[in-house]
Amino acid sequence: MTKTTHDRRVALVTGANQGIGLQIAKELAARGITVIVGSRDLARGTAAAETIQGDARPVQLDVTDAGSIRAAEARIRAELGRLDILVNNAAISRTGRPPGETVAAWAESSRPSVVSLAEVRAVWETNVFGALAVYQAMLPLLREAPYASIVNVSSGLGSLTWFADPTQANRGLFAPTYSASKTALNAMTVAMAIELASTKIKVNAVSPGYTKTNLNNYEGTETVEEGAAEAVRVALLGEDGPTGQFTHATMGRIPW
Ligand code: NAP
Repeated sequence: MTKTTHDRRVALVTGANQGIGLQIAKELAARGITVIVGSRDLARGTAAAETIQGDARPVQLDVTDAGSIRAAEARIRAELGRLDILVNNAAISRTGRPPGETVAAWAESSRPSVVSLAEVRAVWETNVFGALAVYQAMLPLLREAPYASIVNVSSGLGSLTWFADPTQANRGLFAPTYSASKTALNAMTVAMAIELASTKIKVNAVSPGYTKTNLNNYEGTETVEEGAAEAVRVALLGEDGPTGQFTHATMGRIPW
């Protein structure tokens, strides 16, 4: 079989049609990287890709749908032949938001004693199993690159070390849904980094910080540029870069 040769580096960003993912896609494309703009709604992915300067190609990608992941992989393989960067960015904080819901109300309804198991499963399906499924599907393409970087977009809310500490601020935000899903994503990151330790594929988790996006009903305080900064930095690390780390743009290393 003839191998496709593509002279630019190639990145896939999941959930890149809005928010931090779109900003990551913009910044990678601005550095001359071909960016596959993953979006569960192709029309929204296409509209987002049109706002990106550079080589940005929308692909329908729902991280909870095995067929969608398979089709995205097949398209990247046929068109580009490899992946140099995978950013597992897609996530949800909950399945549906009552109009005007505040973060405080969301935290209240997410407590372990009241949250529905269906809600916990749905959030983990996207944030944890979705990232693992995309990893499994895209790994052969990442192995085709001279060296590669996988960035799992996590959250400081996933740090067990921080939230097990009784003096930690905003402890009430740690719940079985979103925050625990990020703890599990951190665990996946460590497992992936261990599996790939002897390869040229680095796997790291990043925390964007509290960013103004749809995820928190725009209550976040950082801009998407600030939120995307660490994922972009880690995505661009060279072949001698670290693996198995959890970091934030200004705080540096975060405890797991
Ligand atoms: P956002 O604006 O809500 O973006 C989330 C993206 O994920 C959207 O494009 C969304 O698609 C996509 N998505 C959700 N479910 C998906 C699925 N099943 N398949 C594919 N894509 C899916 O939120 P954001 O703040 O930019 O979040 C980006 C990342 O940063 C997430 O991993 C989040 O956990 C993390 N993070 C955010 C903050 C913050 O304060 N904002 C803090 C820490 C970590 P639709 O547009 O179709 O819904």
